[in-house]
Amino acid sequence: MLVGLATLVIVGRVFSPHLFDLHLKRLEGRGFDLSEIRSDLIWKFESAWSRGALWSLLMGATVSGGLSYIVAKRVVQPLVQMEKITQQFAQGNLKARVTDSEILELNRLANSFNRMASNLEDVEQRRRELIVDLTHELRTPLTVLEGYLEGLADGTIESSSEVFQRLAAETTRLRRLVHNVQELSKAEAGYLPINIQPIDLSPLLLSLIQRFADQLVEDGPVLRLECLPNLPLVSADPERVEQIMVNLLGNALRYTVKGSITVRVWSEPPKLWIAVIDTGHGIKAKDLPFVFDRFWRSERSRARSPGGTGVGLAITRSLVELQGGEIQVESELDKGSTFRFSLPLA
Ligand code: ADP
Repeated sequence: MLVGLATLVIVGRVFSPHLFDLHLKRLEGRGFDLSEIRSDLIWKFESAWSRGALWSLLMGATVSGGLSYIVAKRVVQPLVQMEKITQQFAQGNLKARVTDSEILELNRLANSFNRMASNLEDVEQRRRELIVDLTHELRTPLTVLEGYLEGLADGTIESSSEVFQRLAAETTRLRRLVHNVQELSKAEAGYLPINIQPIDLSPLLLSLIQRFADQLVEDGPVLRLECLPNLPLVSADPERVEQIMVNLLGNALRYTVKGSITVRVWSEPPKLWIAVIDTGHGIKAKDLPFVFDRFWRSERSRARSPGGTGVGLAITRSLVELQGGEIQVESELDKGSTFRFSLPLA
């Protein structure tokens, strides 16, 4: 506004008297005699022009100043509010959210901030829950270890290879628990690197089946692979698919004493399904909704000492979901379980 008005005044002051003077000269050329009133006319013109310029300056300044103030207030107010909210958020109030604004761009900024805030709140919530669950889970094996070590120290427990094996098994479980929790927290927070690419699952499944077949005991279950010869490619990370299969096959092997463990693969565009079907001890219908919860174990597997960690299936579910698939379970007590997951076709 100031630049505009200054230009108007300067240009007007330099050119207007000159133009007026020219106009008078043209009139004199047409025969009018202006010699007596010429200087008076110029002076009057200049004073009228100055007064007009002053008024326009005053009115322009007031109107544009007022408008600028209103517009600036509309922009600045939500920005100040946003600053306050971000400060509250930084101080640990993770529930703080920015309210909507009438200005489109600010509204977009507010929405992105709120989305980021929800994600952070989610991660923080999961971190807290994980720590609570983890400390709870660590307590049992640590108490067992402490009891044994104290007993060995004061002589109430005789040292035997069986006792040391038990101690070693508990420490192995602790190590596995820590490793699994680390993987789970990465997977849940979305920090696990996933390298999605078109892959053919057949060679991967074959090598896994061979690996697990070596672990089968003579009168234990048999391991089978049922899959079409020309499997369509899937979009997945081979390492993560292997991790999922190791978890599912490991469980099937752990909870199946006799019968069979079958890996079945079929295509249902736009997905490919992979199922691990066992004839093991199964899961109670009332327990099924919890199998994918972290640290959940059935009463039966809790009683096994040292049992699993209850984290495997939680990791498995996160890994499947990170690759755009879903995982389901069906099971009947004492008949067997079927865990199946899907992967998107490439
Ligand atoms: P873990 O096997 O280490 O305890 P998981 O998360 O892999 O942990 O499994 C959670 C629980 O689900 C197990 O403790 C077990 O009770 C049950 N479960 C998982 N897979 C099977 C299966 N194939 N048959 C029967 N129960 C199973």
